Amino acid sequence: MTQIPLVDLKAQYASIKQEIDAAVARVLTETSFIMGPEVRAFDEEFAAWIGAPHAIGVSSGTDALHLVLRALGVGAGDEVITSAMSFVASAEAIVMAGATPVFVDIDPCTYNIDPALIAARITPRTKAIMPVHLYGQSADMDPILEVARAHKLAVVEDAAQAHGAKYKGRPVGTIGDAGCFSFYPGKNLGAYGDAGAITTTRADLAEKLRMLRDHGRRSKYEHLIDGYGNRIDALQAAILRVKLKHLTDWTARRRAVGTAYDVALTAAGITPAIVPSWAEPVWHLYVIRCDDRAAAQAALKSAGYESGVHYPIPLHCQPVYARLGYATGSLPVSERAAEEVLSLPIYPELPSDAPGRIASVLAAVRPGRI
Ligand SMILES: *Cc1c(COP(=O)(O)O)cnc(C)c1O
Repeated sequence: MTQIPLVDLKAQYASIKQEIDAAVARVLTETSFIMGPEVRAFDEEFAAWIGAPHAIGVSSGTDALHLVLRALGVGAGDEVITSAMSFVASAEAIVMAGATPVFVDIDPCTYNIDPALIAARITPRTKAIMPVHLYGQSADMDPILEVARAHKLAVVEDAAQAHGAKYKGRPVGTIGDAGCFSFYPGKNLGAYGDAGAITTTRADLAEKLRMLRDHGRRSKYEHLIDGYGNRIDALQAAILRVKLKHLTDWTARRRAVGTAYDVALTAAGITPAIVPSWAEPVWHLYVIRCDDRAAAQAALKSAGYESGVHYPIPLHCQPVYARLGYATGSLPVSERAAEEVLSLPIYPELPSDAPGRIASVLAAVRPGRI
């Protein structure tokens, strides 16, 4: 029986093995492992691909978020508003900066932060809003920017899942003060280890972030500010430069898979993922809802299809954030989504008959939808 995983990194490596192996050999031969020409070139090429004036390669997506908060002066006693439905790193970076995460509930259709609920959570301590472009689809940025402007708050985009996604034609990562990307291996652009990047339209922030990632350096021996060892590895930069050349093509293939799911699920009587008119998603994940998720997962598994859940526990319900005092039911849309979301296999090399077959399996168990 065919086994279709949720993500297939081996298929991708097989398709670009020669290019990758040559890039790795080049770095090993030149022994320029920290900063240097690969990192400089990657920063320029990633900025150009996103359509941002500045990009700064760093050690991970989590570190990207943390460094941006530091660069914006967010620290002890401050609060940062973010979505309750995300990977833990969104909140973790806020805590790393010494600040407190304030979780806001989500829109039930897009799973992104509900802009209408933000104002009520703003206090005199609020310094920034961190929307997450979850599953590769932009949050509704205009009302977020409006509330941020009215209260003089910074906007940090968590674009860790959304390389190349657009909002009303604008690339995510160029809309707020800065955007943070992850190159965790399973992301749309994945390194062979940990890596991340920050994009920004602000030259002042870019300059500060370049120092922050490299021990606060202004020059080799002169350290101007308190910094970190958060540089992107030259090896990862070289690998990512190879992959970046394929990212437009891979993104187009993800979009084709997304469309195939839309068509097949609709034909099977199952509600597909919802895309607002202003969003151009890059389908990091394709997520549907199920009344009986366990039954849907079991049926898919026995037919040879892996599935996933992103995420089964909303951030305000995580034990680590219990100290923040949220009660069960306080962010009901996130809590319900956490029980019902189901991620279907999606990656550029997914066999083209998979969406149709998966829709048939799901139709047989009638997973339902809100
Ligand atoms: C992956 C991810 C991160 C963290 O990125 P790392 O590179 O793993 O540190 C942050 N936010 C979201 C939404 C993510 O999916």
